[in-house]
Amino acid sequence: MTKLRSNLLVVAEDGGTPLERATHALPDIEWAAVLPTIEAINALKVERNAIVLAHNYMTPDIYHGVADIVGDSLGLAREAARTDAEVIVFAGVHFMAETAKITCPDKTVLIPDPNAGCSLAESITGVDVRLLRERFPGVPIVAYVNTSADVKAEVDICCTSGNAVEVVRSLGADEIVFLPDQYLGKWVASQLPEVKVHLWEGACMVHERFTGEELRSYRTQTPGVQILAHPECPPDVLAEADYVGSTAGMVGFVRNVAPGNRVVMVTECSMADNIALEAPGVEFVRPCNLCPHMKKITLDKILHSLRTMTTEVHVDADIAERARRSVDRMLAIGTSAAAPAGGTR
Ligand code: SF4
Repeated sequence: MTKLRSNLLVVAEDGGTPLERATHALPDIEWAAVLPTIEAINALKVERNAIVLAHNYMTPDIYHGVADIVGDSLGLAREAARTDAEVIVFAGVHFMAETAKITCPDKTVLIPDPNAGCSLAESITGVDVRLLRERFPGVPIVAYVNTSADVKAEVDICCTSGNAVEVVRSLGADEIVFLPDQYLGKWVASQLPEVKVHLWEGACMVHERFTGEELRSYRTQTPGVQILAHPECPPDVLAEADYVGSTAGMVGFVRNVAPGNRVVMVTECSMADNIALEAPGVEFVRPCNLCPHMKKITLDKILHSLRTMTTEVHVDADIAERARRSVDRMLAIGTSAAAPAGGTR
């Protein structure tokens, strides 16, 4: 889930304005360099009746400085549908902006860099899904939300990393096709041994790089550390973790960690940078696997996007309608199990 932020004029829950939080998130020298851009973006948001939705993997200057809503991809799409703003600037990768457009077709959705893709989403197309349908007739096809609109349009239902197990269980099928993330699919299969899961062999280039050996070394080097891993990681990584869950689930977990404890988040680097402010007293061990796609989104590009109203995301009406059905089925079935709070303020 996400959290709608107060704007710069409103005192936030932690007693500081977003601007003050952003100040704490960056070293002084960096802060001085980005402040004019942050102020320009925030002024343009008012002028354009726009909001910035930022994924948990955005850099702290975006996450703390200009985002109105922060969260995981599904939470952001949900909040997009609720906003009164006319323009949504999506600080995330392309499939996420597409999902926002699918859930709120009447709004203008902008992505600051249309080349911000995703190794996982790009591993499969709608044509591939149709071939899977021929190969496994009558078998339900479940798609992780990290897919393009044309893939969502071809499947039976979507899921997130936070609700994948619940969504598959809800189908009551003894056999499914799960795509595109093979590791999330294996995690689902491990939790539901009664279901035969046919996997597509896609992977996230960020999470696939972690190893079980690496996690064992964290324990050796930092005794007592609690390890949180994203289910896009390989099985040997998940076997070493104390908690397996979505980015939103990790936020919920960290908020209950007592000060003085140490945690490591086995996911994209910016996650710990962004969450550290929310959990004072908790020490974050920070392995760093950057997502080069997420890092294509910068403050300067957000400013350019708002100034020029580019690049607008379009989804073909027929594809959008069919994709929305898959997303809505998930929401109807998996709402209670959907990823918990991704917003952190
Ligand atoms: S972190 Fe992985 S799944 Fe997310 S955008 Fe990057 S490559 Fe795609």
